[in-house]
Amino acid sequence: MIAIDMALEFVMKHQLFGEIWILSDSRSVVQYLDNWRDVSDRRGMDICNKLRTMCNSCVLYLQWIPSHVNLKYNDIVDSLAKEGTTMPQGYVEALTYLELYSRRKAFVNISWRHPSAHSWYRSEGPGASMHFKKDRKDQAALAHLASSHLKTLRFSHGNKKLNICTQCNMIEATPQHLLDCVALVYDDLLKRPDFVLEVMKANDLMDLI
Ligand SMILES: [Zn+2]
Repeated sequence: MIAIDMALEFVMKHQLFGEIWILSDSRSVVQYLDNWRDVSDRRGMDICNKLRTMCNSCVLYLQWIPSHVNLKYNDIVDSLAKEGTTMPQGYVEALTYLELYSRRKAFVNISWRHPSAHSWYRSEGPGASMHFKKDRKDQAALAHLASSHLKTLRFSHGNKKLNICTQCNMIEATPQHLLDCVALVYDDLLKRPDFVLEVMKANDLMDLI
């Protein structure tokens, strides 16, 4: 997001015009910006405002590209980014993992408890259905996540029991925790179910769902 924002700033500063392509290997960022109506964070809004200003003077393309497939400029960018992260950060205080975790968690808790306030009602189809056409197994996994009926759910002495999350090996793998553990939110289930599945699969969490 920062890189895209800076690229746009460069374009504006140098008053470039015509056709401009921004290539990013971050699929989630490209998807996020594609849903520009839902962009609500500061950086995202900065980007959208720049796009709005620039669309008079140029045609801008934001294109996802795969990473680590020996694309020359992608490799250069990667190594520059790596170099950048090893440099001393000066006045910027880095957040510790725990700080990030608790911030994320607070946010997740809020969005988990109040899903109906917006997402369901915004849904276009009847019955607040998720827009997702894939195989039954994937569909079932999404339904399990959304409804809290995970397949590892069992009852012991009248209490609900779930497997421990294989991602962190610390916490019971409730749907909320699974999303939490891979830094997703409940809203993602409704807005980009494809992406949620992709992340769950990439983290080997499908067996828990
Ligand atoms: Zn976990």
